[in-house]
Amino acid sequence: MRYVKEPTYTKFITGDIPRFDDRNTAFSNGQREGNKYTSMHNQCVENLKKGKKGKTVLDAATFSAGATVDYVVRRNLLGREIVPVYNTTHRLESPDPEKISSIVKEKARWIGADLVGIAKTDPRWIYTHWGEQNVRYSQAAEVGDPIEIAEDYPFVIVMAHAMGYEMVKRSPAVEADTDIEYSKGAWCSASLATFIAELGYRAIPAVNEIGINVPLAVDAGLGEAGRNGQLITRDYGPRVRISKVFTNLPLVSDTPIDIGVQKFCEVCELCSTYCPSKSLMKGERTDQPWNLHNVPGMKKWPIKAMQCLDFWVKNGNHCSVCIRVCPWNKPNDLLHKFVRFVVERNIMSKTIVYFDQLLGYGKQAKDLGYDIETHLEPRE
Ligand code: SF4
Ligand code: SF4
Repeated sequence: MRYVKEPTYTKFITGDIPRFDDRNTAFSNGQREGNKYTSMHNQCVENLKKGKKGKTVLDAATFSAGATVDYVVRRNLLGREIVPVYNTTHRLESPDPEKISSIVKEKARWIGADLVGIAKTDPRWIYTHWGEQNVRYSQAAEVGDPIEIAEDYPFVIVMAHAMGYEMVKRSPAVEADTDIEYSKGAWCSASLATFIAELGYRAIPAVNEIGINVPLAVDAGLGEAGRNGQLITRDYGPRVRISKVFTNLPLVSDTPIDIGVQKFCEVCELCSTYCPSKSLMKGERTDQPWNLHNVPGMKKWPIKAMQCLDFWVKNGNHCSVCIRVCPWNKPNDLLHKFVRFVVERNIMSKTIVYFDQLLGYGKQAKDLGYDIETHLEPRE
């Protein structure tokens, strides 16, 4: 791993990057086009009624249990400023930025974050306006309300929450670690924001609200952006969910890292090959957007986001295949630490991709069932 002066996406910038409007995410657009996210949940119920393998009532109950804290915290705390509970009158005077940064990161880990880093809030990664999906779940604003926070909250603390390797292997059947890690993101960001608010500083916790997670996380030194559009971290690959806290607490930014993702993704393409909806690009990066879900100004592998969401609707639950098949997605044991050491140096990348498939990494889990009948009867 190398520390680098600028995030690794910088060399692919070809022009001005316009800020993205949250109303243009596939989720928001999908709501306008007939509430696709709700259709996905309706399909989920159809699947569980039929007892489909990997999508039974037990599977659906698992992801629902995982999402419980997420739904409650999102609706009450995320996407808005946290109000201190006890210390409403004083603030910590001129904290040393180095020391308080280190304490904030220690608190983030104590609360439960697996990775944490700090960046300056880059206005390019802040949404221009609130979109339908984030408004629906957070109720922190109205659709179309402008978002201008970069000046008042000059730092962002970004946290990553690791999903389990075995659970992700189930995808595109139900994998509930997306949901439980969303809950951890909600819990961690809200708790860390409370810590900062009690010190007398401003703090907005968020998971999907307010800004685009991947570039914020790259800026904070947590990893790099991959072909699959996700953050690739050194320890967990793309198998993470992200949360963040925007603040005016004076902090020190972390240094971005280069773990070899850019070159590796150029030769790999496994996510694109196995994406069930063909939403991920093969070949060279482009700075040409497919549609309103992408922005110009940077060469990357833009995603056909609505195509992806349409698959989720058909599938009846979200999909993590592009995480499952990624060669960076490995258990964090000694053997795989060695493989990561080789991958980072971009040595034998093609060979690694070949053996990854030959050895069966990235295959869907064979056993998706529970040892219990899942026939249903009407509730009384
Ligand atoms: S989530 Fe699934 S459908 Fe969407 S891009 Fe990834 S692999 Fe493709
Ligand atoms: S599967 Fe391959 S191409 Fe896709 S993100 Fe992972 S390393 Fe990059």
